[in-house]
Formats: sequence, C-alpha cells, structure tokens
Amino acid sequence: MSYSPPRALREHEIHTARDAPMGPLSEVVTMAVPQNKISKSRRNNRRSHHALGDANPNECTSCGELKRPHHVCPSCGNYADREVIAQADEIDLDDDAA
Ligand SMILES: [Zn+2]
Repeated sequence: MSYSPPRALREHEIHTARDAPMGPLSEVVTMAVPQNKISKSRRNNRRSHHALGDANPNECTSCGELKRPHHVCPSCGNYADREVIAQADEIDLDDDAA
C-alpha cells in the first residue's frame, strides 16, 4: 500500500480537524456548509412567495353565514344541506328521561 499524503484542509475543516484525535486512521469529519453567503436581497426574494393567501370563505347554504369550504358550518352544524352536528339549543335534555 502506497502512502498518500493527506490533502490540504479546506477552511471550514480546520476547526474540526483540530479537535479530532490525530493518527494514521483518523478521518476528518466534515459537515455540509453553504459555499456562498445568501444576500439579504436573494433571501427575501426567495421568501416573497411565502405569504399565506386569503381564506376564501363560502356562504352557508342553510344559514348564510360565512364558512370554510368543505367544512361543517360552525353556526348551524350543516354540511351538504343536512344537519350533521346537533346544535346545543335544539337538544332537549329532558327527552331521555325514563
Ligand atoms: Zn350554516
């Protein structure tokens, strides 16, 4: 086996190599590092598409309140023109008395 001298360390590897145990079998542990600084302009341009859009509410067909599309109406409990959640003021608490 021929000896090959260790290659020169890159700048970001020097700190790691100093803390690593030295020896013929020791390897330099590296971690991924950005090659270039991202300028504030480029960073902010990338984030220019990150804003959330509008909620786009629909009117409930039963009560007319605004509600989220494809969700049960929180004010009347209807979904697709039928009541799926009974409202508290419509429940008769004395009904189940034996
Ligand atoms: Zn409704």
